[in-house]
Amino acid sequence: MAKYVYKFTEGNKDMRELLGGKGANLAEMTLAGMPVPQGFTVTTEACTRYYDDNRTIAPEIQAEILDNLAWLEAHTGKKFGDPANPLLVSVRSGARASMPGMMDTILNLGLNDTVVEGFAQFTGNPRFAYDSYRRFIQMFSDVVMGLSKKRFEEIIDDVKEKKGVKLDVDLDTEDMKDLVVRFKAFYQQEKGEAFPQDPKTQLMEAVRAVFRSWDNPRANVYRRMNEIPYDWGTAVNVQSMVFGNSGSSSGTGVAFTRNPATGEKALFGEYLINAQGEDVVAGVRTPSPISQLQQEMPQVYEEFVQIANRLEKHYKDMQDMEFTIENGKLYMLQTRSGKRTAAAALKIAVDLVDEGEISQEEAVLRVDPKQLDALLHPTFDPDALEQATVIGSGLAASPGAAAGRVVFTAEEAKEWAQRGEKVILVRLETSPEDIEGMQVAQGILTVRGGMTSHAAVVARGMGTCCVSGCGEIAVDYADKSFTLAGTTYREGDWISLNGSTGEIFAGAIPTIPANPNSGDFGRLMGWADQSRRMGVYTNADNPRDAAQARAFGAEGIGLCRTEHMFFEGDRIKAIREMIVSDDTEARKKALAKLLPYQQSDFEGIYEAMEGCPVVIRFLDPPLHEFLPTQEEDILELAGKMNLPVARLKDIIESLHEFNPMMGHRGCRLSVSYPEIAQMQTTAVIQAAINVQKKHPEWHMVPEIMIPLVGEAKELKYVKDIVTATADALIAASGLELEYLVGTMIEIPRAALTADEVAQEAQFFSFGTNDLTQMTFGFSRDDAGKFLSYYYDTKIYESDPFAHLDQKGVGKLVSMAAKLGRQTRPDLILGICGEHGGDPTSIEFCEDVGLNYVSCSPFRVPIARLAAAQASLKKKG
Ligand code: PEP
Ligand code: MG
Repeated sequence: MAKYVYKFTEGNKDMRELLGGKGANLAEMTLAGMPVPQGFTVTTEACTRYYDDNRTIAPEIQAEILDNLAWLEAHTGKKFGDPANPLLVSVRSGARASMPGMMDTILNLGLNDTVVEGFAQFTGNPRFAYDSYRRFIQMFSDVVMGLSKKRFEEIIDDVKEKKGVKLDVDLDTEDMKDLVVRFKAFYQQEKGEAFPQDPKTQLMEAVRAVFRSWDNPRANVYRRMNEIPYDWGTAVNVQSMVFGNSGSSSGTGVAFTRNPATGEKALFGEYLINAQGEDVVAGVRTPSPISQLQQEMPQVYEEFVQIANRLEKHYKDMQDMEFTIENGKLYMLQTRSGKRTAAAALKIAVDLVDEGEISQEEAVLRVDPKQLDALLHPTFDPDALEQATVIGSGLAASPGAAAGRVVFTAEEAKEWAQRGEKVILVRLETSPEDIEGMQVAQGILTVRGGMTSHAAVVARGMGTCCVSGCGEIAVDYADKSFTLAGTTYREGDWISLNGSTGEIFAGAIPTIPANPNSGDFGRLMGWADQSRRMGVYTNADNPRDAAQARAFGAEGIGLCRTEHMFFEGDRIKAIREMIVSDDTEARKKALAKLLPYQQSDFEGIYEAMEGCPVVIRFLDPPLHEFLPTQEEDILELAGKMNLPVARLKDIIESLHEFNPMMGHRGCRLSVSYPEIAQMQTTAVIQAAINVQKKHPEWHMVPEIMIPLVGEAKELKYVKDIVTATADALIAASGLELEYLVGTMIEIPRAALTADEVAQEAQFFSFGTNDLTQMTFGFSRDDAGKFLSYYYDTKIYESDPFAHLDQKGVGKLVSMAAKLGRQTRPDLILGICGEHGGDPTSIEFCEDVGLNYVSCSPFRVPIARLAAAQASLKKKG
């Protein structure tokens, strides 16, 4: 019979798929003899089963939970619902991949009207007992029953106001009792039934609520962002409670074995005396630094330091630990590999190699490629910074520099960002509901909360600049303003944040790009380059981007989109002339104007790439992007071409396409008008000849790529034009220049007939943007408008334009790779769609055996690291 529940004594760290990260690590700490309050884990398979069984917990799973509860009672010598010696438990989620704050937690479960009295006597601390009870009612009502959190806060505020006090700690036993009565009355009023008194009912409801929370909207957004599959499910940990809020020799805290912002090797964290865990994470009170615990409770501190060191050595990674002190005794509630900034991730990985703890390959596997993005982000222009006015400071919660306009809600952040505005999200504190607003913001500023608060943890994960805990700010949400240092800032005002120092500035400070090629970054990327099999190329259309990509380590250009060269200035006029020409002579005249632009651009790009491979793709403009629409442009063009305006308008009308994405574009243009291929070949080859003559030390091999091919004969037709033109130019040059002709595989038919296509192509480059569009049958420009419905209904878990659909589109890719190589074993295979810079898609490319991936310049370091990880994972 399947086993759905494991005691902490039955698991270990290698069981995270079944027990979730938290459960597996609680078991591992138990195994290592560390002080862990005991309990059990309901598995991720039980969660999957809950969804399979129409959101119910099967009777045999309920029975298994109750059996384990009985064991826990025997083990602790306490009893569920026994006023004389009650067992209280926490119920927490724990998925395979950590999803901080995304799912639900319930503490103090097991309290009811009679247990609380016994608990008060048993602990000799009635205030503590009633405080625990009112917290439990609050959490259970919110998390399990979905009642408004706000209403409970209002009741607390009301009690405080009547008493004339400001802080929760100023409330006494009678006030807590009063809160319990009022909370229960509210519950009764809302739910039409009394607050559940049977602890077993409470427990089953809580387990159900955690399973349910796997599917809450914020967890779904987080999963999509982090590519965590929906079918993984979450485990549920039921653990006997220890109380950090049972007096002044109790407390609770969060600590890291190394600094998660900088990577510095030193215990880092914070704690609160007389508090429960949620108080630290929620950022409601500002905690003390962990070092202070050494003075306050030296023995506990010593023991904690020892455990922290052991855990780090054991896991060979920086650990993020939660602990509670109950009446002077330390308990470990959690350990996990800590979230960290990109800079810290690099430093920790490199330091662990230097300390002899891990190998270089392990270090390469330790850093999340997507995180590197944060290092590639800008800092403030130092000159402008000198002139800037610091208006305040908070904690340097997540590094980077950001300037934006003030907004106060996640919704406003999204609205403003959609309008193209840069925003800084200013909040008292953030909560998981704010996640989408945080994602679009340039920076995040909070009034409350420490380095481990929600805002800090989430911003670091996203690589977004964040300053947290700036207590001097007075926010007025209703007025959409905040006051700092005597000045009021309103919605829409510009401010700037330095997430590396915690400073806040008035106005917008210009930023400059990052230069990550040094120190830890350089060393780790060097190890990555040694580990990877695939090449990393870039998509670049001009010398500036090519040089930037080179600086980031690109080994070639995998896609130069030649139509992109015509968006600027006068060039658009020349290409318009070419497009609307209605006879060959006029078209040739227009092409002759384009030739010098193209040739000099190619020379610039070749120069920037210093002899590395450059793949130049022939024109592929969906025509509508280039046709003039404004009357004045049409008049000007007609004048230039000596055409009657009405005639030109007719031509433009005749070029109208119902579906330009599937229209007269790509190689179809050269089939219709061979002179386009002739002109472009001339530009590519003549530029190469010139640069080769200038740099005899380089081995120039220009590569010509024909787009949108769906039939081998169509490729052959264009290729014949290319080779005739190229060979004549080369012969005339006196050089022995090699060149390659290949194609994009971006139409499903090309993938399906790749064996034939390969007869004409020396290389394939998978254009997975179009291949995705045409395989799914929805437009890459419009799908965004309806894909959200597909995420909500779980039909798709992620955007197929961002992460390659391995099942469908991927099948075409691997089929084409295989068929192509059957025909031509030395066929070069690459990818140049957006997926070429996406880590999971890159792993797929490694598996299929592509020679290289090509991506935008700022993703080159990400691709280098992801390609290395893919190689290492494949090697096992
Ligand atoms: C593609 O289709 O994947 C591709 C790289 O070409 P483009 O994006 O220019 O259509
Ligand atoms: Mg394409």
